[in-house]
Amino acid sequence: MKCPVCGSSSSQVLKSKGKTSKELLLKCEECGTVFRETVNVKKPINCRVVISEFEKTHKKFIKVYPDETLSLGGIINVDGREGEITSIENKRGGRVSQSSVEDIETIWASYIDIPARVGISVDFGGRILSEKVEVDREFEFVVGDVVKMGNLYFRINSLKTLERKMRRGFARAGVTKRVYGRPVIDKRYKYDLSSKVV
Ligand SMILES: [Zn+2]
Repeated sequence: MKCPVCGSSSSQVLKSKGKTSKELLLKCEECGTVFRETVNVKKPINCRVVISEFEKTHKKFIKVYPDETLSLGGIINVDGREGEITSIENKRGGRVSQSSVEDIETIWASYIDIPARVGISVDFGGRILSEKVEVDREFEFVVGDVVKMGNLYFRINSLKTLERKMRRGFARAGVTKRVYGRPVIDKRYKYDLSSKVV
């Protein structure tokens, strides 16, 4: 929006009206000329979201502005509930950590108004014990930690998140699909998940 008199692009908005196209009344900050300009406001578009709620997934659409940028971990509103973006696929089929809405093919998200449900697999030398726990989404599983679960004590030796398998480090429960462990004799545990088993 350049001043028709001096060509300066710094101006002050005096008035603005309209929704899909805005009529602006501007005042040049250089020479003080008042002029009108019409700008097109981009309309929100439908963006596909696959939202998960425990083991179920629902396909939905959300309205977003094409020039908006969405990132992993970002919060979106899906039918009045809050969801956290867990994966973004762009139109070239790649998984990216952020993208402008125009380039997004599908967003994956999880509702954050419910706890995270995480699978636990403990390997007794070939015999696998599997359980599910429900924990706060912010809870962190750390490889190497010893966990109590009922009468069972195990050490976490790897984690499977939505994106990858991890043999070290930690992951938030909100993005963790499964925790793998091996039983331990030493009962000094870091946390007790007994009450979290579902
Ligand atoms: Zn001017």
